[in-house]
Amino acid sequence: MGDCIYCGKPAGLFKTRHKECEERYKMAWRSMVETSKNAALGLCSLENLTNELHQIAQQGFVPTGKIKNALVAGWEQAALHFLSDGNLSKEEEEKLYNFAKFFNLEQKDLDNNGFYTKVVQAGVLRDIMEGKLPTRVVLDTHLPFNFQKGETLVWVFQNVKYFESRVKHEYVGGTQGVSIRIAKGIYYRIGGFKGYPVEKTEVVHIDTGIMAVTDKHIYFHGSLRSFRIPYSKIVSFQPYSDGIGIQRDAASAKPQIFLTGDGWFVYNLVTNLARR
Ligand SMILES: [Zn+2]
Repeated sequence: MGDCIYCGKPAGLFKTRHKECEERYKMAWRSMVETSKNAALGLCSLENLTNELHQIAQQGFVPTGKIKNALVAGWEQAALHFLSDGNLSKEEEEKLYNFAKFFNLEQKDLDNNGFYTKVVQAGVLRDIMEGKLPTRVVLDTHLPFNFQKGETLVWVFQNVKYFESRVKHEYVGGTQGVSIRIAKGIYYRIGGFKGYPVEKTEVVHIDTGIMAVTDKHIYFHGSLRSFRIPYSKIVSFQPYSDGIGIQRDAASAKPQIFLTGDGWFVYNLVTNLARR
């Protein structure tokens, strides 16, 4: 006889749970997340939430240790709800912040699925749109950049892949020449010459590193390359699903592409800062 993992009573031969108990558990969990979400949305009070969650948990055999998970899941769903219209108002951001503070939820708890970062990013974009310079980035390390006086750091992207578009010369159209078989499967061509060069553009991965965005420049630092680009020297921006492309204002300038992983944010961030 096995005992039910939910109620602890005998569940039958080779069984680990009662079907009804499992249903009760699932319903209770959903209800805990929903209740937390409503509180994070500001629809009900935070003061009673812990009590409520304890009650639901008890009725549905949910371990007390899971209450924090329900709070986090509720916060994430509220964040998703607030962000789904493409922006996060000051009031919405405050509701999320207050909820997290009230229940002592930290960045590491709330960022498992990237929602904390998304909320901060949405706040950064709102600040810029409202003509303010965001100061939401707290660094625990020293950045390898020589920022200018009065320059404000707005965001730092890590593990950014930096690409350049390069023109590759290929030769096509040469004569065939004569092929002589030297060894099994290997042919040596005599008399063949290269034809005319054809320009072909290809995107080359140059380096991987840190990209910092300030109110005046885009900075990049990798193991091979380090540079900064002032917004005034950029002619056009190209949005990508996972990054941004930049064309500098010089006849010889090659398109530069930065893969940050979140195209929507980096594109909005950089284009709005450049417009200031
Ligand atoms: Zn049971």
